[in-house]
Amino acid sequence: MDEEKLEQLVHEADRVVPRPTPKEFFRKQPHKSLENISDYERLYKESIENPDGFFGKMAHKFLSWDRDFDKVSWGSFEQGDVAWFLGGKLNACYNCVDRHAFAHPDKPAIIFEADDEKESRILTFKDLLQQVCQVAELLASWGIKKGDIVAIYLPMTPEALIAMLACVRIGALHSCIFAGFSAGSIKERVFDAHSKVVITCDEGKRGGKITHAKQILNEALKECPEVEKVLVYKRTGNPKVEMVEGRDFWWQKECEQFRGYFPPVPVDSEDPLFILYTSGSTGTPKGVVHCTAGYLLGAAMTTRYVFDLQPEDTLFTAGDVGWITGHTYSLYGPLVLGVPTIVFEGTPAYPDMGRFWKIVEKYKATHFYVAPTALRMLKKSGEAEIDKYDLSSLRTLGSVGEPIASEIWKWYDEKIGHGCCHIADTYWQTESGSHLIAPLAGAVPTKPGAATLPFFGIDAVIIDPQTGKVLEGNDVEGVLAVRSPWPSMARTVYQCHQRFLNAYLRPYPGFYFTGDGAGRDHDGYYWIKGRVDDVVNVSGHRLSTGEIEAVLLESKKVSESAVVGIGDDLTGQAVIAAVQLKDSHLVHDAETMIALRKELRLLVRKVIGPFAAPKSIIIVDDLPKTRSGKIIRRILRKVCSGEAKSIGDTSTMANPHVIVNLVSEVEQQF
Ligand code: ATP
Ligand code: MG
Repeated sequence: MDEEKLEQLVHEADRVVPRPTPKEFFRKQPHKSLENISDYERLYKESIENPDGFFGKMAHKFLSWDRDFDKVSWGSFEQGDVAWFLGGKLNACYNCVDRHAFAHPDKPAIIFEADDEKESRILTFKDLLQQVCQVAELLASWGIKKGDIVAIYLPMTPEALIAMLACVRIGALHSCIFAGFSAGSIKERVFDAHSKVVITCDEGKRGGKITHAKQILNEALKECPEVEKVLVYKRTGNPKVEMVEGRDFWWQKECEQFRGYFPPVPVDSEDPLFILYTSGSTGTPKGVVHCTAGYLLGAAMTTRYVFDLQPEDTLFTAGDVGWITGHTYSLYGPLVLGVPTIVFEGTPAYPDMGRFWKIVEKYKATHFYVAPTALRMLKKSGEAEIDKYDLSSLRTLGSVGEPIASEIWKWYDEKIGHGCCHIADTYWQTESGSHLIAPLAGAVPTKPGAATLPFFGIDAVIIDPQTGKVLEGNDVEGVLAVRSPWPSMARTVYQCHQRFLNAYLRPYPGFYFTGDGAGRDHDGYYWIKGRVDDVVNVSGHRLSTGEIEAVLLESKKVSESAVVGIGDDLTGQAVIAAVQLKDSHLVHDAETMIALRKELRLLVRKVIGPFAAPKSIIIVDDLPKTRSGKIIRRILRKVCSGEAKSIGDTSTMANPHVIVNLVSEVEQQF
């Protein structure tokens, strides 16, 4: 890398000029929700100065109510008793299904792209209403009622969405358990939520392989005595799948008994809608509780304003219902707006790396939403598979889950969006329910790698972690917090309100603490730096691991990087980097590895400074990751600190086998 490039990198954040939404975006969809930055500024100001007036209006605009609310907002961060739209009654399933089925019964609601393309199918709003009603009535006949928690262990299929909607139709909560989880993780979650009913399938299909949902569940349920009934969707029909007499029932057979209409049960705005366990990057997963009206409004508003999702659009969120993205942007966001959602069962690499783009072309998807980890993999695999497909239907490209490096942002913009799309880097959390900081399509100009400006009602602040004081003005850096409650925020952690208070509301009294570090640049734009426990303090220099990782990713040879700090006698903490190479064969060449370590260290020295240069660089085949694709730095830190034995909870890891490899690499290096 030459001096000029380095210079360019260092000053990139200072120099980038915000890019307005490309003109082509408006040409593709004339019914834009917002026209320009002044629209955003005016509405944002109103949402902060008069939240009750603003959100009261929005709640009437976006949701259908059985009983109007008496009071828009209530409670405070100090008390931890936040509530919205008090006295109101509504049903989330009615809002997502019935009202659209009445208006346009034959409009597609769920576009199912099966792992095996030939098994794909489309469900209209009418079909969806009928199928949801049958499952809802079945659950009701099993005694499931308002407030009960039904566990759902289903892969990304229409049935997962149908099961979720069936629960909320009768006022029950769903607790989705990611279909990749093993028996131990299922047991923990079913147990914690006291679920009496679990919904699953016989087997799943993913990447050309069969997954064994029922078999894994059977294993888990050996230790879940509270489970009385299991509903099993027959997906593959393998006769070897074991069914327990009196406990397990076939979905298709049971549903035949019901006529296909079952009235929705209106619930209170603050009745819980679902619980969802966080992905567990930082510790044991928390059962986050979301409530009906506020959550649904957040889903509707962000999907409309951040993505500019309009009735004639089609959204392809390449997420999974096992995570919050699958809840808010595969199910609730699009369906509450009456927009078709593409549900994809497979993987981006099967049958080849062009699968996502093939789906976009096939259904003329207007919106595509995915995590940077997938984008990095797709970028690495080259352009041949992208160029085969017509991606001109796309208007908005979203990113979620971790900071998106500016290189990846630009690749997404150029190669997938052809410079014609709105690129939305959306910063949010399971606990926030919907986007916190993201550029609003058509209104907020973007900068590669910046989450940009806060969404309506999000009074974002940057706090100095040492003094706890709010840092006013621009060009500041610290921890990210929110000053006042917003409708879609989580209300509590299931059966553990103290844990909720301790994690989010007590660290900085009067504020909601996100746990993430962030900077606000001279334009007032937010740049998310990653978790604050991912800050390394080397000789008094507070370094963001994310920043060092981004520099390492600049090397053409590196595909993934993770940086942690470990105790160091001399400097307090030392920077340790683990990198995964684009060409894994290189790993076996000792000489090349020595040269590469040197090169990477030099790169960090030059771009950030000598103090940031990693003390050790570990080169691995694979980094420890959650099943949602996030790097688990906690595990890396433990291994590097010689504490591999006390790693703790690995139930949320996608690839526990990498630990052994990591340990041996670390032993060689240290
Ligand atoms: P746990 O809370 O159990 O540790 P988790 O925080 O990984 O798990 P999620 O709620 O899925 O679970 O992830 C939210 C976190 O992901 C955010 O707090 C932030 O660290 C990161 N994140 C999400 N979107 C972005 C983004 N666009 N830019 C930067 N970071 C992001
Ligand atoms: Mg979190």
